Amino acid sequence: MIVIKERNWSVTRERMANFGECDYDTKKITVHEDLRGHAEIETVVHEVLHAQHADWPEEDVLIRGQEIADALWEVLECRLTVTG
Ligand SMILES: [Zn+2]
Repeated sequence: MIVIKERNWSVTRERMANFGECDYDTKKITVHEDLRGHAEIETVVHEVLHAQHADWPEEDVLIRGQEIADALWEVLECRLTVTG
């Protein structure tokens, strides 16, 4: 369970049609279970931005999400990349 704007949200990984989903009614963020690396980070950030900013158009969520994901990936890549 995580808190977004003082409300409890769940975040789960599931097999699904899209990369991710943000359900305002059930307060649930879902991320496709096969995603890894940058795509995984970008999808989580993207869906959290949707949860935080229900009024933002998709284009803004897409661009702001990419910016945050790129920054996180820049500093975390070496720790998140699976080796061996
Ligand atoms: Zn979106």
